[in-house]
Amino acid sequence: MNETALFKLSYGVYICTSWDEGKPVGCVANSAMQITSSPATVAVSINKNNYTHKCIEDCGHFALTVLAEDSDPKLIGTFGFRTSKEYDKFASAPYTVRGKLPVLDGGMAYLSCKVVSKMETATHTVFLGEVEDCDHLRAGKPMTYAYYHDVLKGKTSANAPTTVAAAPEKKQKVYVCEICGYEFTGDFDSLPGDWVCPICGVGKEHFSAK
Ligand code: FE
Repeated sequence: MNETALFKLSYGVYICTSWDEGKPVGCVANSAMQITSSPATVAVSINKNNYTHKCIEDCGHFALTVLAEDSDPKLIGTFGFRTSKEYDKFASAPYTVRGKLPVLDGGMAYLSCKVVSKMETATHTVFLGEVEDCDHLRAGKPMTYAYYHDVLKGKTSANAPTTVAAAPEKKQKVYVCEICGYEFTGDFDSLPGDWVCPICGVGKEHFSAK
């Protein structure tokens, strides 16, 4: 079996949100798709280790915020590499309640869903959600998983449901963010002191040479 064939599947980048007893929670989801049109139903795959997973189970609702190519990549760092259990992800990410669910203002569209069914796998639950409300937030090009990796040089959380091709070998020195795994290639020492990780927003002190 040649598992690299899996790299040929395409994905978007979404923030999947829900409520934890009135507090907004959320995580990055890349495996989401429309299943039926009438009634409009979508599926999203969420790792059982994610705190958001438990909250979707308890609350029975979730929303997907569709990110655009020019959405702040820090949204992915915050929602993909930290846990809602210990960290208020929404402190630095403005949101608005739409369709009764928290939706990130930095996205370009949203779908607000009621869980109508689910399918269990060893590591992930696929939630089926009937869309109760959805709308555009602004114009833009939806961010794809390929864009995130190839253009923004983003990394994948250990909880992601998909396999990702390894980056090609680089000859230049590489510095890695200990929080989100973002890799900076080039003259790290010449970066200004207030430079921050473009994905998760931490300072240079959280980087180390690979
Ligand atoms: Fe980072």
